[in-house]
Amino acid sequence: CGIVGYIGKRDTAPLLLEGLQRLEYRGYDSAGIAIQAGTAGKPGGLKTAKTKGRVRDLEERIPKRFTGTAGIAHTRWATHGVPNDVNAHPHLDPAEKVAVVHNGIIDNAAELRAKLTADGITFTSDTDTEVLAHLIAGAQAERLEARVQEALRHVEGTYGIAVLHADFPDRIVVARNGSPVVLGIGENEMFVASDVAALVSHTRQVVTLDDGEMATIKAGDYRTYTTEGSRTSSSPETVEYAA
Ligand code: GLU
Repeated sequence: CGIVGYIGKRDTAPLLLEGLQRLEYRGYDSAGIAIQAGTAGKPGGLKTAKTKGRVRDLEERIPKRFTGTAGIAHTRWATHGVPNDVNAHPHLDPAEKVAVVHNGIIDNAAELRAKLTADGITFTSDTDTEVLAHLIAGAQAERLEARVQEALRHVEGTYGIAVLHADFPDRIVVARNGSPVVLGIGENEMFVASDVAALVSHTRQVVTLDDGEMATIKAGDYRTYTTEGSRTSSSPETVEYAA
């Protein structure tokens, strides 16, 4: 339902919670967050918190020392699997290297789940989304962007996704197919959201992804490209927004 992401120098969790609050008007049943813990010089792996309920319930679940320089967050409107803590996003692989938030519906999730299960992977949730975490974690490519592309090649359906990887703490990778993703371009910080409402308090410079398009955001720059890997042009537009 709602996606927010941030990478930059500021502490990520409070910014993401504020962004989620700005998306609450859309309705949701659960909320969650994953961060790259630690500092740019000393990465501390992924940390997550999630819960059924409201953004303020999530706030209460966030442990002490939940600080980091990049993160993704989600408000869920359940389509596959009941609203509960486990089905809330982000979804992670068992090694907790990959965290994914997802808007939309993976149509061939049941088939992918059966294949991954046959390969020995244990699922923890009932969501369609969880297949994405396992596919990205299992991808063979070197770069994170190529791993996400490899994973998406197996997937049919609609998605707006944001991905964190513990081994790539300097970036967030996002992709869009049928579910909106916008980048917010800041000064040595970048935002991503499913709706400009979540980011206009920080920047009015936005890049709206097209279907079939992906982006990598880092604190100091961003680039957009297709799910096939060719670069796309992406000059920011200035959004007018009546708050
Ligand atoms: N299909 C996913 C789920 O049920 C995402 C739902 C959403 O867009 O919030 O978890």
